[in-house]
Amino acid sequence: MKILIKSFVVLAFLFFSSPAVSKKRPATEGPSPDLTQFYNDTNFKYFEARLPRVTVMVSEEPDSPDLGETVPCGEHCYSITIYSSLVPDYNEQKMVELHEMCHVDMDELGIQEFDQHGPNFQTCMVSLAKKGAFASLW
Ligand SMILES: [Zn+2]
Repeated sequence: MKILIKSFVVLAFLFFSSPAVSKKRPATEGPSPDLTQFYNDTNFKYFEARLPRVTVMVSEEPDSPDLGETVPCGEHCYSITIYSSLVPDYNEQKMVELHEMCHVDMDELGIQEFDQHGPNFQTCMVSLAKKGAFASLW
């Protein structure tokens, strides 16, 4: 009986404390540890760990019509945001992230093209594809 009462107390605690949990941001909003880990792994595997550390964010509210966005925040500092409302699929979010990582790479290399998706950017993306960075994503 004591165990039953203790179980009831625990369940009651969980039930009454649940509103705090439901007020939490959904998993599709804020810093993404998984996408940040993917950035770190990709940086090590395909960029020879040249890219600076970045915290990858997901947001349901796009600030732009793009699927993702890279915003410089100082020297060797970037903010990458993936818009989960436009890209709900996790593998597609990773593909968008690879795209954004090429923007970081271009900036770190000091390459500025008239078209930000110009020949150097395309070379970065094709290089990632040839190395197999997209292989498990499509
Ligand atoms: Zn782009």
